Amino acid sequence: MSLIYRSTRNGEETASASEAILKGLTSDGGLFVPDCIPKLAVSLEDLTKMSYQEIAYTVMKEFLTDFTEEELKNCIQNAYDSKFDTEEIAPLVKVGNAYYLELFHGSTIAFKDMALSILPHLLVTSARKNHVENEIVILTATSGDTGKAALAGFADVPGTKIIVFYPKSGVSPIQEKQMITQKGENTYVIGIKGNFDDAQTGVKKMFSNKELKEIMNSKGYQFSSANSINIGRLVPQVVYYVKAYAEMMKNGALKAGEPMNVVVPTGNFGNILAAFYAKQMGIPIGKFICASNENKVLFDFFQTGEYNRKREFFVTSSPSMDILISSNLERLIYRIAGNDPVQCAAFMNALTQEGTYTITEEMKAQLSEFFGAYATEEETAAKIKAVYEAEKYVMDTHTAVAAAAYDKYMAESNDKTPAVIASTASPYKFTRSVMDAIDPAYDAKTDFELVDELCKISKVCVPNAIEEIRTAPVLHDTVCETEAMETEVRKILGL
Ligand SMILES: *Cc1c(COP(=O)(O)O)cnc(C)c1O
Repeated sequence: MSLIYRSTRNGEETASASEAILKGLTSDGGLFVPDCIPKLAVSLEDLTKMSYQEIAYTVMKEFLTDFTEEELKNCIQNAYDSKFDTEEIAPLVKVGNAYYLELFHGSTIAFKDMALSILPHLLVTSARKNHVENEIVILTATSGDTGKAALAGFADVPGTKIIVFYPKSGVSPIQEKQMITQKGENTYVIGIKGNFDDAQTGVKKMFSNKELKEIMNSKGYQFSSANSINIGRLVPQVVYYVKAYAEMMKNGALKAGEPMNVVVPTGNFGNILAAFYAKQMGIPIGKFICASNENKVLFDFFQTGEYNRKREFFVTSSPSMDILISSNLERLIYRIAGNDPVQCAAFMNALTQEGTYTITEEMKAQLSEFFGAYATEEETAAKIKAVYEAEKYVMDTHTAVAAAAYDKYMAESNDKTPAVIASTASPYKFTRSVMDAIDPAYDAKTDFELVDELCKISKVCVPNAIEEIRTAPVLHDTVCETEAMETEVRKILGL
């Protein structure tokens, strides 16, 4: 049976999975949601005998119903291979009273790799299925992590080019080095003299430029986006929660059917929504603990039912969660509004126009499985230090936000349900904040000196992703004014 995807904002628009992947957003700016969340076709016991790739196929075939078995298995084999530095792909590690699901073993050492290593293959397959002859040009603005993960995912994928814009003075030295040393004949990285918002605005302008679209089409190109609202990024993220549950059964922490809690450091709400989908598929999950940093718009939302983005923006040590508009929350809003696109669209319009909306009491009552918590900068740093001292386990700042939020949940609930904490980045990606948390004296050292110090104090050796960029040659050195972004794209494509 084929699964239909609908728009969260209008009842008319539908798409197949491959069409939804190609389009990214619906034509009215809404998100694609599956008509219903399919159930797993295998038992929980069966899952314990399966590899990551096998579980990936079992989960994803239920969502991507217009892909053939061969197509989907090819995508999975090309994505979850030796690019990951562990055969398990997403290992589960017990530390103290919690289990850490390490989602950072891919090529750019952050959890974005879990989805961005397969998205290019899903996209190219979708293009072929829908008889798209054009070459796909991925256009992305990045504040650091997404850009590199997208570059790594699309590098040398036939039928695609990827162009990434980043704020020249707005990313960390390691993040910049990761991007400007990117290999691949089809990769382009451009620094702009502006901030992330300028880059984002410039990209959006090009997406909606009709004249540009026509010229591109005549030259055999079309734009697509690797944005986290693409269903092709969400679906692969369901897989690791299913795998985590199987691992919890295997290690004896749970018997089949017993619940586990999940704790997710949240920004755009994609990762935690994937966990929610895993539950609808049949994985027994108790609570979804949604962890925020000082940008705690989601914490406030779960407390009060009001989503309010009109607030001060804080730059924190967990930058990938410095977000005031959690785009994927729209999919949950649609659901708790009884799958009503009219009501959902009204909330989203209010958010755009007034900066706030408040859900109804009936809607709020459906959020009882969610628990919002947040950690301050001090609490985050203290958690890194405490776990390091007690367990010799070094975690990154984003994971530490989740671990600190879990402590707060435990203090309030005393819930004995075993918990899995999503560990979203390697500590090597945010070395300075991590080492400063352990001992402020480290701050005097350079970034690469800190890498070596971290290697000394942790049991984990320096990941390839970091080792490579120490000596890698710079391959991209274009810098442009914000106004010249389109000119650069035209140059690259020969328009
Ligand atoms: C993107 C990101 C997050 C937030 O994930 P969402 O799916 O946007 O909620 C958390 N941690 C890290 C390291 C990330 O890169």
